[in-house]
Amino acid sequence: MFGRRTRLQGRTDEQLLLMREAGLLVGRTLEMLAGEVRPGVTTLELDRLAEDFIRSHGGIPNFQLVPGYSHTLCTSVNDEVVHGIPGTRVLEAGDIVSIDCGAEVKGWNGDAAFTAVVGGPEAGRPEDLALIAATEASLYAGIAAMQVGGRLYAVGDAVEASIESAADRDGRVYGVIDEYVGHGIGTQMHMDPQIPNYAVRETGPKLVDGFTGAIEPMITLGSTDTKVLSDDWTVVTADGSRAAHAEHSVAVREDGLWILTAIDGGKAALESVGAAYAPLDVSV
Ligand code: MG
Ligand code: MG
Repeated sequence: MFGRRTRLQGRTDEQLLLMREAGLLVGRTLEMLAGEVRPGVTTLELDRLAEDFIRSHGGIPNFQLVPGYSHTLCTSVNDEVVHGIPGTRVLEAGDIVSIDCGAEVKGWNGDAAFTAVVGGPEAGRPEDLALIAATEASLYAGIAAMQVGGRLYAVGDAVEASIESAADRDGRVYGVIDEYVGHGIGTQMHMDPQIPNYAVRETGPKLVDGFTGAIEPMITLGSTDTKVLSDDWTVVTADGSRAAHAEHSVAVREDGLWILTAIDGGKAALESVGAAYAPLDVSV
């Protein structure tokens, strides 16, 4: 998957500060969208809101830079895992939707996603709320496993351990998708190395100061098998079970971690999992 001898490259502080600008714009776009996810809205309306927000804040919707893709978001509903294309679908109370968003600012990129219940938690099925909570927890567990000198594929081990403990606690079986991966991020949204959000046999390359990657576990209420719909983009679970997806772009620093796409830099989430928070800026 990634050459044993390949060394990861770190970003300079100056570059990380630019990536923070992009990440913060993504975080603020997702925060805005979280307030717009309601019954009756179409996924295309959400996409337009996101594009306007990003452009009016000096960013470029970087999903539009992916060959063949012309939207600002991926909106994946219920059994759709990732890469759902915004369109005329009207969201209904109790649906779960993953909203994945990216932006480029001054040549640097951010990429993040969250999954929400349409109509709020009170409209959600208990199993969907548990799935979303387990997915988010696994994201932060994966992020917290990153440290300078550590191995990149510790991320996937931590995601799986977190999901296993959530499954025990919730008395459910969760599927950890292993057909799609996280990725390095910087001057482009998708860069080497691939970052498995699931356990693999190898340990992966050694993490260096200033490494930036996007971690994005995709978890289902059933199968780990997926298929792609005839639109050539939308990934759905093979068994029709619902799926959740959560993502952040993260900088690994000598003293700890900085979640570039979290509005608070990841301070709260990192502290809650006992990981060191190491931002370059102090204000947001
Ligand atoms: Mg993404
Ligand atoms: Mg990504």
